[in-house]
Amino acid sequence: MDREKIIVIDFGGQYNQLVARRVRECHVYCEIYSYKTDLEQIRAMNPKGIILTGGPNSCYEEGVPSCREELFELGVPVLGLCYGAQLMMHVLGGRVCKAPVREYGRVEMMVDTSTRLFHDVTPLTVCWMSHNDYIEKMAPGFRMIAHTADCPVAAAQNTSRDLYAVQFHPEVLHTLEGSKILHNFVYDICGCAGDWRMDSFVETSIQAIRKKVGGGKVLCALSGGVDSSVAAVLLSKAVGSQLTCVFVDHGLLRKNEGDEVEEVFGPGGPYDLRFIRVNAQERFYGKLKGVEEPEHKRKIIGEEFIRVFEEEAKKIGKVDFLVQGTIYPDVVESGLGGESAVIKSHHNVGGLPDYVDFKEIIEPLRNLFKDEVRKVGLELGIPEKLVYRQPFPGPGLGIRIVGEVTAEKVKMVQDADAIYREEIAAAGLEKTPDQYFAALTNMRSVGVMGDERTYDYAVALRAVNTVDFMTAEASQIPWEVLQRVTNRIVNEVSHVNRVLYDITSKPPGTVEFE
Ligand code: GLN
Repeated sequence: MDREKIIVIDFGGQYNQLVARRVRECHVYCEIYSYKTDLEQIRAMNPKGIILTGGPNSCYEEGVPSCREELFELGVPVLGLCYGAQLMMHVLGGRVCKAPVREYGRVEMMVDTSTRLFHDVTPLTVCWMSHNDYIEKMAPGFRMIAHTADCPVAAAQNTSRDLYAVQFHPEVLHTLEGSKILHNFVYDICGCAGDWRMDSFVETSIQAIRKKVGGGKVLCALSGGVDSSVAAVLLSKAVGSQLTCVFVDHGLLRKNEGDEVEEVFGPGGPYDLRFIRVNAQERFYGKLKGVEEPEHKRKIIGEEFIRVFEEEAKKIGKVDFLVQGTIYPDVVESGLGGESAVIKSHHNVGGLPDYVDFKEIIEPLRNLFKDEVRKVGLELGIPEKLVYRQPFPGPGLGIRIVGEVTAEKVKMVQDADAIYREEIAAAGLEKTPDQYFAALTNMRSVGVMGDERTYDYAVALRAVNTVDFMTAEASQIPWEVLQRVTNRIVNEVSHVNRVLYDITSKPPGTVEFE
């Protein structure tokens, strides 16, 4: 596809995905690539512009992530952010060294608003900084266009070569006019037209799927979550009853969730597709018996999924394609996109077994961020209730039970979670945290019930506020609500005698427990 594209080159910064998301919010398509990507490959992609991300290293040190000088000679505008800005200066003959004064957090910045990059930005604006190093001397041909009290070069440009460097992070929301600055870069400097729209995505995807699938049979792995639901509806619109959706109830779903999925996608629902529900609870519990290590559990659940599909596929006859609801952060977080460390192997990405009985895998959402998937869902007419459903991990409750998974523990966490959700809804707080759930810790402790000693499990409640799930803060659920939830869980769920509330943010914690 010859869609206009901005390329983000990842130097290991924390906010690399945010950079791409902000660009896409400007309706310009954007992809992330590692700094190790071959220059020829980048040239071949014919980008309209290139953005270099921040990163943890110091560019003047030996063996750190770098780039070739030719990157700045492609005739394509380049914007360096933080490490990317420092590297640009370093490679082009400027000097970067330890800053006499480091800056972290919100900083006031004076900008030259006569420049294209800062067009329409307030002369005294607020940016977000996070650096130890600074640009001591700009590379030849550059002019300083922004500074702060402690940072003499907060931004610089070389307009004859279309190169721009900013020490701050325009991608984080704390940089008040960051989106405007990125908008200026992609439109006024790179000359993008802004052709990335979800309605056209739906249109082109349906066409592309039809072309690829032809008369073939398609099997879709339906989990009931947002991603696989949107993927399934997209496929159903493209190829109708050539699509069979297999919904594996792996016994690790929330309470009653299996039946709810069946109501929407089953024969009574609005979609043109074939629906098969496989009740595979026992099989998954069997495989998980005695397994405690989180990555191991994820792999087992992912593999077992594929095995169940293979078996269903054999019953159906010849199947040509398998659909998965993989999305872009899954790809990047699995270490396949940019430079980010492998934090968790993703159910859709890492768990694929060596041999697969299908001709090909179709991942129609592979390039989309979550908010884009939701927009596609709404475009497709999927009910809001489903589209705005809380994220639920592929391995389900399997990773909300710390340690070994057993049928009894699944029941405990399902019941506790249902109570938690009921009470949050009753208090009118459903929209307050962005995600909330109960998990079962592997901790047993002593309690007393009816004058009798108990030795039972502790349930952990989690609720977080987040914009993008990259970072998150614990939500401040009112004390009375937490008390009510706690009382009910301890009274109603057997073998739970203690309830804990997790106030860890991400980082250093993750939203899920495993
Ligand atoms: N490591 C570099 C510094 O400390 C760049 C930091 C960043 O990109 N956030 O200045």
